[in-house]
Formats: sequence, structure tokens, C-alpha cells
Amino acid sequence: GVPKPVASFAHLGLDEGLMKVIRKSEYEHPTPIQAQSIPAALSGRDVLGIAKTGSGKTAAYLWPAIVHIMDQKDLEEGDGPITLIVVPTRELALQVYQEAKRFCKAYNINVICAYGGGSKYEQSNELQGEGAEMVVCTPGRMIDLVKMGATNFTRVTYLVFDEADRMFDMGFEAQVKSISEHIRPDRQCLMFSATFKSKVERLAREALNDPIRIVQGEVGEANDDIDQHVEVLQSQDAKWNWLCARLVQFVATGKVLIFVTKKTNADLVAEKLKKRDFKLVLLHGDMQQHERNEHLTKFRGKTIDLLVATDVAARGLDIPEIRTVINYDIARDIDTHVHRIGRTGRAGQKGTAYTLMTDADREMAGHYVRNLESVNQEVPPPLLALALR
Ligand code: ADP
Ligand code: MG
Repeated sequence: GVPKPVASFAHLGLDEGLMKVIRKSEYEHPTPIQAQSIPAALSGRDVLGIAKTGSGKTAAYLWPAIVHIMDQKDLEEGDGPITLIVVPTRELALQVYQEAKRFCKAYNINVICAYGGGSKYEQSNELQGEGAEMVVCTPGRMIDLVKMGATNFTRVTYLVFDEADRMFDMGFEAQVKSISEHIRPDRQCLMFSATFKSKVERLAREALNDPIRIVQGEVGEANDDIDQHVEVLQSQDAKWNWLCARLVQFVATGKVLIFVTKKTNADLVAEKLKKRDFKLVLLHGDMQQHERNEHLTKFRGKTIDLLVATDVAARGLDIPEIRTVINYDIARDIDTHVHRIGRTGRAGQKGTAYTLMTDADREMAGHYVRNLESVNQEVPPPLLALALR
């Protein structure tokens, strides 16, 4: 049978080391996805978890991972990781790694982050030197490190794919499959996302063994704590004017994340905003990794409240102070849109998202309308007009 969801942290049966961190975080109750997937994961079953952005999926796999490691640590010989967590982007790897370390504080668990862009040499040394019970990784770098002989998968008995569909979008399908296939078949495997594509369904069938499926809300549903606005404008200039007229006010209410589609566009918008004296940082895939890390650290801190980014920032990033997301250029598909706006409205807080559209976006407008309708959200009349044009 499928374990019952729990109503309180006490019923999860987590031990004091974890409960201490949970209390310190001031979490009052398990989120719905945690209430269902933690008992499922603790029962040893595979889990497929789909739940809205900002609903606490990270802890839903990290807490059982810690319990699993503490159970397995002394039983299994060897030095490779016991738990492997695979995520699509470097920034997300670092974020999950920080979360993991925070939750592991009371335990003698070594956590290592193996991500592309960081030093392969250092990561290899860390893996070989101290050993690692938990590794958070991006797929390409993990495979490189195994090929180099820095570590191996023989001890992995708990495998997580977070944002699996994004890994497929980014062309990591072969790497993801290779990792899954090189890990012993009797491992426990968990997959999480807020959206889900048919391609990923295939991976789920291959990697998961009789999983407990936990789907909360509609697949691909936007979080309804996000107040969504669509602005249909006449031209690119009109978009720029719209932004300039409102940005000061947005920044005054909290952090602001502006999405653009192309790296060159990110540079351009950032330059223009800097000329208007906005303090901001940039994030896109053509930047050096150390620069990406520095910028994100600044944006998480107190001095910078504005980030201009491409879709490298669309998935998973958890920066609770983000109040406003602006799709200056529309997302290339509706899933990406849902993840982008999901950078706000997290953990029950409210957020606002603005999507700027012009005539050129008519085709996407149809997808937006259908997505909003499918989750019973109001369709703004100008959007409908654009879709029907
Ligand atoms: P998701 O992966 O579903 O997008 P995250 O795991 O990044 O969401 O969590 C979103 C935010 O919610 C984080 O800031 C996290 O600290 C917070 N959070 C997680 N669990 C709880 C909880 N039970 N109660 C309150 N806040 C929580
Ligand atoms: Mg997440």
C-alpha cells in the first residue's frame, strides 16, 4: 500500500538532528508534497513527485536522503556516494548543496557538490580525499569525474533527479540515462518537477520501479500565489518604456527578476538599465562560472535587488525575497513560463509576474490562454484578443 500523508512534522518520525533544523527554519507544517512524498520515500519506494514551484520539493527528497544515509552508512563498504542528487544547472546544484549542508549539520555526513564550471581537480580531490555520502551534481561533470576514476556509483542506493524535464530540454538525456543505467538496479529512485514532458515519462518508466506517483494540482499548473499579469504592447520600444516606468516601484517592494530570451539581449537590457542608474547583476550561460556565482551571491544578498537573466535562472532557484518576475521576452514554451514565474510566490508568500507581449508573440498567446484556462485562472482580455488575432 501507499503510506498515508502526514499532518505534522512529529508524524514524519524524523529524528532530533533534523527536527532542530526544521524548527530553526520556522517551518510550521510539512508542505503538501512533503506530507505525501516523505512517508513514501521513507518506506523505500520509488517516487515520482510533481508539485507547483516553491512547494518545498527539495526537503521532500533531502530529509529522506539523510535518513537513508544514516541507515546505510555503516552497512555498506566503499567510499563512493550513497545518495546522488542530479540537477540540471550549476546554480541549482550549488543551492541544493547549501540546503543539504544546512540539514546535515547534526550528522556526520559529508556532502560534496560536483558541478560543471567548478574546478574538476578540486572536486576530484574532495571526492577522493574525504569520501562523500551525498553528492549533488550536474550530469556532465558527474560522468567526467567517474570516468577519471575520482569516484564510483557502486554504493549509490538513493538516486534523485530534480527538474528532470529541464535536463532533457538541455540535451542531457544521454547523460541522465547513462547515470541511471550505471547505478545498481535495486536502488531507490525519486524524480521531481513542477512540469512534466512525455519524453520524461519514458525516463520515468525506465528509471523508476513501480513508483508512487504524487501529482498535486494540475501538471504544469502555475502557483496561484503568483498574481499573473499579461501586457500586450505595440513594439519593443513600448516594452522598454513600460519597464522604465515601473521598475523603480517594483524594486522598492522587493527583489526583481527580469527574464530575457537571449544572452545578447541580457547584455543589452542590462547595459541600458545601468545607464539609468539601476544597480543590477546579470546571469547567463556565456559568463564565466565564477562570475555567475558572484552575481547570484550578490543578488541573494542585501545590496543588489535586480537580476537580468536568461533561462539559466528559470528553474529551481529559491530566493524568497523575489517579489516580482518580469518576462521582458516571453518564454519559449509554457513550461518554461511556469518555472520562470515560479521564482516568486514561494513557500506561501505572494508574488507578482508580468509578461510583456507584442504582436510577434501571437502564437505563444494561444498556449498561454489554454494554460490559464486549464487551471481555471482568469484570462486577461488583451491576451485573448492577441491569441484570436
Ligand atoms: P520547490 O523545489 O518545490 O520549488 P523549494 O524546495 O525550493 O521549492 O522550497 C521553497 C521554499 O520553501 C524554500 O525557501 C524552503 O526553505 C521553504 N520551505 C520548505 N519546506 C517548508 C515548510 N514545510 N514550511 C515552510 N517553508 C518551507
Ligand atoms: Mg526545486
